[in-house]
Amino acid sequence: MAKKYIIVSGGVLSGIGKGVTSASIGRLLKELGIKVNSLKIDPYLNVDAGTMNPNQHGEVFVTEDGYEADLDLGHYERFLGIEMKKFNNMTAGQVYKYVIEKEREGKYLGATVQMVPHVTQRIKERIEEIETDVLLIEIGGTVGDIEGEIFLEAVRELSFEKGRDNFMFIHVTFVPYLNITNEFKTKPTQQSVQLLRRIGIQPDMILVRTEKEIDLPSLEKIALFGGVPLQYVVNVPDLSNIYEVPELLYEKDIHSLICKKLNISVPQKIESINWKCPRIFKNLKIAMISKYLGTDDAYKSIIESIFLSGANKPEIVNAEELEEMKEETLGIFLSKYQGIIIPGGFGKRAIEGKIKAIKYARENKIPILGICLGMQLMVVEFARNVMGYKNANSTEFDESTPYPVIDLMEEQKRLLNLGGTMRLGAQKIEILPNTKLFDIYGRQVETYERHRHRYEVNYHEFNNMFETPEENENKLTISAKTDFVEAVELKNHPFFVGIQYHPEFKSKVGNPHPIFVKFIEEVEKIK
Ligand code: GLN
Repeated sequence: MAKKYIIVSGGVLSGIGKGVTSASIGRLLKELGIKVNSLKIDPYLNVDAGTMNPNQHGEVFVTEDGYEADLDLGHYERFLGIEMKKFNNMTAGQVYKYVIEKEREGKYLGATVQMVPHVTQRIKERIEEIETDVLLIEIGGTVGDIEGEIFLEAVRELSFEKGRDNFMFIHVTFVPYLNITNEFKTKPTQQSVQLLRRIGIQPDMILVRTEKEIDLPSLEKIALFGGVPLQYVVNVPDLSNIYEVPELLYEKDIHSLICKKLNISVPQKIESINWKCPRIFKNLKIAMISKYLGTDDAYKSIIESIFLSGANKPEIVNAEELEEMKEETLGIFLSKYQGIIIPGGFGKRAIEGKIKAIKYARENKIPILGICLGMQLMVVEFARNVMGYKNANSTEFDESTPYPVIDLMEEQKRLLNLGGTMRLGAQKIEILPNTKLFDIYGRQVETYERHRHRYEVNYHEFNNMFETPEENENKLTISAKTDFVEAVELKNHPFFVGIQYHPEFKSKVGNPHPIFVKFIEEVEKIK
């Protein structure tokens, strides 16, 4: 079978679930026995997402091969159940950097280097790097965005080179509902299809996102103005559980429409899809002590890991508000929660609020999971409040602290560039027997976990704060290590676990990371 391409573009608004919809299409095709992979295109000029603020753009998703990606790669990884790599994400920054460097090397000697054909050529090369039967290409942003046009142009060219029959253009749009007049408004969708047509792309399918089920006349209107057969105009209303989207698409027979359009003979007839997604979400009160409050996307993979472990969404608590609270007020405020998560983060803002929450959880034996920065702050809190090291800190926040219990990694001290230079991606960790972590991992001694940090526990100078699993002096137990301290826990606490790495990036549908599963189990015990 010739390689097939599904191009997913967006219309009207961003943030309408284009990533989830594409990932769900991918999952559906995978269920049919088709080999699928994906490419997320991000038209911004950053070379990767690593330097972007999560408040604006959502979390930075870290791949196994140490790439700092757009959070949509997380959807693909969770839905498709395959590991995403660096080549699964292309940014405009990567493309232009490549073309300009090639020009400087003299590889285009004599030519005037232009958007078409040189930039489009590079985009097409990147697309062709991914070998698979069906490649889902999701183009970030909305049709009409200046920086996205060159990518649409490149896929348009490619569709002529590879044969239009091997291409399916799916346009995902949003149709708002006006309460005042009690009607759906299709005009923005019509206009976004026109924008696509203007650059030479006629969509083959329009997926109409709405807040609730749309009426048939509205779909007919979209079909007429969009020039797409009615059958190929499909409504995808909001679902409270995004993991049910593949089933919804299946019920709407989207897989048959896609296979028909792309002339794919379905290898397996399926009666229903065997999709082990979470359906019941235990009503637990978990506080995530956060500082990126602009969008829930900032903590996407953690939130999804909690869902995939079968619990409802943790509550995003503003760490800065905790900073102001007196200890007693803070105790009353936090007493309504059964568990606490301290997520990763960068920079000084709000860390004192997080440290207060850690103290509360440690003293009141509330299950607490510290991830990356969260773990580092657990060490700081222990240093200050148990060891009595006044003003102990991470040198990230206080360079002249008398007790630098967290310090910049040696190799980081010599770096001049901040893009893509953290300790990143899968790194081996050694889990120590007789710890909670060892039980969580099913008594496994060695594994790989994804990292993204510059600072580390300053074990060399402060080893007296820590103990081995065999010792019993009520110090912080090291439960995983390499050359670095990878995890700490407390023996006399139901669940006080800090990890230097990010388990949230490894959760998949039907296979949440065991740290979250165990955390949820312990949270449930708290009344
Ligand atoms: N800022 C900390 C570091 O660089 C923690 C990073 C994180 O939480 N991902 O080590």
